[in-house]
Amino acid sequence: MATTQQLQLLAPLSGLLMPLEQVPDPVFSSRVIGDGLCIDPTSQTLRAPLAGVVSNVQDSGHAVSITDDNGVQVLMHIGLDTVNLAGKGFSRLVQEGQRVEAGQPLIELDADYIAVHARSLLTLMLVVSGEPFTWLTADSALVDSGQPLLQLSLGKPAPSAEPEEEGEALFSKPVLLPNPNGLHARPAAVFAQAAKGFKASICLHKQQASANAKSLVAIMALQTAQGDALQVSAAGADAEAAIKALAELLASGCGEAVTAVSAAEPVAPVAAPSGKLLRGVCASTGSAFGQVVQVAEQKLEVVEFAGDQAAQREQLKQALAQATEALQVLRDKAASTAQGEIFKAHQELLEDPSLLEQAHALIADGKSAAFAWNSATEATAELFKGLGNPLLAERALDLMDVGQRVLKLLLGVQDSAWTLPEQAILIAEQLTPSQTAGLDTSKVLGFATVGGGATSHVAILARALGLPAVCGLPVQVLALASGTPVLLDADQGELHLEPQPAVIEQLQARRQQQQQRQRQELEQAAQAAVTRDGHHFEVTANVASLAEAEQAMGLGGEGVGLLRSEFLYQDRGVAPSHEEQAATYSAIARALGPERNLVVRTLDVGGDKPLAYVPMEPEANPFLGMRGIRLCLERPQLLREQFRAILASAGLARLHIMLPMVTQLAELRQARQMLEDEALALGLKELPKLGIMIEVPSAALLADLFAPEVDFFSIGTNDLTQYTLAMDRDHPRLASQADSFHPAVLRLIATTVKAAHAHGKWVGVCGALASETLAVPLLLGLGVDELSVSVPLIPAIKARVREVELSPCQALAGRILGLESAEQVRDALHQHQQSTLAPSLVLEN
Ligand code: PEP
Ligand code: MG
Repeated sequence: MATTQQLQLLAPLSGLLMPLEQVPDPVFSSRVIGDGLCIDPTSQTLRAPLAGVVSNVQDSGHAVSITDDNGVQVLMHIGLDTVNLAGKGFSRLVQEGQRVEAGQPLIELDADYIAVHARSLLTLMLVVSGEPFTWLTADSALVDSGQPLLQLSLGKPAPSAEPEEEGEALFSKPVLLPNPNGLHARPAAVFAQAAKGFKASICLHKQQASANAKSLVAIMALQTAQGDALQVSAAGADAEAAIKALAELLASGCGEAVTAVSAAEPVAPVAAPSGKLLRGVCASTGSAFGQVVQVAEQKLEVVEFAGDQAAQREQLKQALAQATEALQVLRDKAASTAQGEIFKAHQELLEDPSLLEQAHALIADGKSAAFAWNSATEATAELFKGLGNPLLAERALDLMDVGQRVLKLLLGVQDSAWTLPEQAILIAEQLTPSQTAGLDTSKVLGFATVGGGATSHVAILARALGLPAVCGLPVQVLALASGTPVLLDADQGELHLEPQPAVIEQLQARRQQQQQRQRQELEQAAQAAVTRDGHHFEVTANVASLAEAEQAMGLGGEGVGLLRSEFLYQDRGVAPSHEEQAATYSAIARALGPERNLVVRTLDVGGDKPLAYVPMEPEANPFLGMRGIRLCLERPQLLREQFRAILASAGLARLHIMLPMVTQLAELRQARQMLEDEALALGLKELPKLGIMIEVPSAALLADLFAPEVDFFSIGTNDLTQYTLAMDRDHPRLASQADSFHPAVLRLIATTVKAAHAHGKWVGVCGALASETLAVPLLLGLGVDELSVSVPLIPAIKARVREVELSPCQALAGRILGLESAEQVRDALHQHQQSTLAPSLVLEN
């Protein structure tokens, strides 16, 4: 009987052991890569668990494999999703091919940096060659680096001993790798696992290098990157099937969510759109070709102590006053309300009592004004970031921005304008709102950042300036040399490196077409939104002020489908008086006139949008708390007063009242009763139309019960999407998934329309889905009667209605309801769009 050799594996780090099944990443917890252990580390040097050769160390330093003389392969993977850090936080101490001793340091890790910037620090040690092992310690103990943990039995032949399949090797067409971080551990494991399902001998090729496709470590050692042209070869009985399946798997991202670089069909390299590209999220649409300008924040020297406390307090007071003035200038120059609001918020931060209190306390301790102010703003920003609320985390950026503005004034540092070349594409870790607002748009063509989100203030400012912008790019972007030519395709959320002339021309042509189309849409904005086969759809506006309502009418709006009345109530210490409210609603109604619909939504605050004069308990989940109609029914006086003020505008426009966040019939009935009481008290003969928003799944699912009791429905797809998909509508990392094109949301829209029409009631859509030209044929096909859209998009939506015919839209909508995912829905709609856009305006994608 052959004696079984034993091998001990040492702990690569100190820390707390954790069972593999508890690792929050299915590729590791399901042991697809291999069995082993997980450590929550307390030390920062990853050491070799066995002696052998470094068979792979990833360029990004987050994973390393060692193969010993018996063929035992052990992979160590530091943290989860750490591939996204692109090397930051890791120092490699060894090279591929180097022989190492057990216990030798392999990688230094910066645990603080990784903990903050990656999903988790949990580190895996996996026996990828598959030898069985027994534990030498309890599997959830605290262990020391270098302590023996696993005992491997080496009797079993290594999988590489599998016999080579005979026959000539077949090759796939080259596939452009779509994975943003190449084939790192997770997609490599999925690929190797799939390859193991075939008998054929299979290799993966990158240029001259090739790897056994059934070996995870070999695949990782190829060090692939996004955009690499890879080929699969196979020899043996099922070679053809293997090539087809594996090439398709590569093209689809090997289980990772990727935006298509290539179609599902593998593409030949000649069809490659460009050399390489980096992907992020679109913050502001458009595209530009220019040169990289890396912008780094100025480092400011701050002296900690100062003598005269009174003088320090005075300096701080003056700097705050100057900053407030500078922000006022920016507010006055602001091109849009949204832009002005951002600087108003910055001014409010300068008056924040807690911030000032902290700064004054430090001055009283002998610190300089600059030190005190800087410490107070940094500490508060850190607090915002640590609350786990993405919106507050974004506001931390605003705070740092005003903090720097005041600090520079205190230090007498000139805010030197960047010296920029022509056609600059700015690249930065993060831009601040002040920097963005101050950009010289004659030189800057766009920008791309690592941080930020599509909902950030920087994104809003970029849109106001008409600058294309992409945020959320991988950190590699910071390594691009200034002067490198790049193509920023913000519509697709992409930055193309080494773009080919053909791609640049294509994008420029697309931009020109878009501009031409916008001009045409604007010229025809007053024309009705009638489909080619003669069906009229009402296109109305979402507004939050009289100014916006007037602008909407000027752009061809046929009414107001959503007046967000919150604007009257927010940012103030006391409730608006009846007179103020009534005057505002009446002014808007007058601007529309008696022939047009005005849909006033009652107060939709609470939860994440508290009112200063309505004290509320803090809530753990504000979006699931006292919001909208729930809050109003709990404070009936507030709602009664609002009803009275709205009713004052009866007769000036075709008045409609709409209740937000309705979830149950009782809410509608209670509110209707209150409205009837108030109308009666005012002596009104006719009640305005009363409808509800459909933005909670329960309302959509009970639409057949609501329909007999309402005059209309308006679907709020923003909230309907968030509640249907259980995804926070403002979550930056879920932005691409919280998609209103999800078939589940579309089915709820279909249910609502069917129920409403069965009772002769009309249905509008006032969520952001209605403002997407791509969605127009779908919504018309689903039977929606009105589209209430964001004001600037009225001409585009009307134009799109005029391009389609209703019955093909109905067939399209029917097909789409059977699809599986938002991506499939978007694909189907893109195809439809290409076939129905006016021929001169077909936009190449
Ligand atoms: C919606 O939820 O789609 C909607 C229009 O309401 P709001 O965006 O104001 O919540
Ligand atoms: Mg809503």
